[in-house]
Amino acid sequence: MRIGIDLGGTKIEAIAIDRDGAVRLRWRVPSPRDSYPDTLTAIVALVRSVEDEVGERGTVGVGIPGAISPATGLVKNANSTWLIGQPLADDLPRLLDRPVRFANDANCFALSEAVDGAAAGAEVVFGVIAGTGVGGGVVVHRRALAGVNAIAGEWGHNPMPAPRDGERSVPPCYCGRVGCIEQFLSGPSLARDYVASGGRALTAHDIAKSACAGDALAAAVLARYEERMARALGSVINVVDPDVIVLGGGLSNIDRLYDSVPMLWAPYVFSDTVTTRLVRAAHGDSSGVRGAAWLWDE
Ligand SMILES: [Zn+2]
Repeated sequence: MRIGIDLGGTKIEAIAIDRDGAVRLRWRVPSPRDSYPDTLTAIVALVRSVEDEVGERGTVGVGIPGAISPATGLVKNANSTWLIGQPLADDLPRLLDRPVRFANDANCFALSEAVDGAAAGAEVVFGVIAGTGVGGGVVVHRRALAGVNAIAGEWGHNPMPAPRDGERSVPPCYCGRVGCIEQFLSGPSLARDYVASGGRALTAHDIAKSACAGDALAAAVLARYEERMARALGSVINVVDPDVIVLGGGLSNIDRLYDSVPMLWAPYVFSDTVTTRLVRAAHGDSSGVRGAAWLWDE
């Protein structure tokens, strides 16, 4: 049995899957916000409960917002800030009395979709989560690449390629850099662009709905979003040349992206043809926790 834990900012989710990926059990509890010791206690209790219920000991993989720093062994880059600087990778294996594998939550998402999701069977997969933020992960032959700095796939904090007039004046990113892809492709960024173009304050979802319903302004803003996504993914294709790019997160619910973006990315790809497919995540919100379980794949 494989146990996956998705350590989120608002909830901790656990899943138990068997050898062929069938779900045996799924549980979630609220995240003990602002307390690292309580977070540890909650994870250990979840694992023990799952094992008691199923009656079997499992491997444990944990998806975290951020990464375990190879330099210090401590959590870094986490938006759940109470985890930053904590020795999670030491404490959890000790408390659970077994080795535990950790990965960034976007890497878990990409792994889940590569193993038995929308990109099942593909050799090279790039997973994108576009929601409140923009993250990414690379999976090759069913293995999520961590990278020597534990940042493989963190494409959202690359600068937007070939910036146009008007794209150089976006607000600075929380990461301290300027012009990050996340500043253009996150849900809040799409909403901000709509307001800056003279629209009302709407969510990304409602902008897409308005565009569908014939609102010319929403359609123009969405078209700009699609062109930016094509430009940003073009540079990904040049580096990792994935068979499939899987889109997850709230923005992945915009249907027209899957047709429009691949029609726009060719000028940014160094190739005569581009057969990379852009597809919607198959496991939705469950991809993170499934991928955490799949961190043990042998
Ligand atoms: Zn940034």
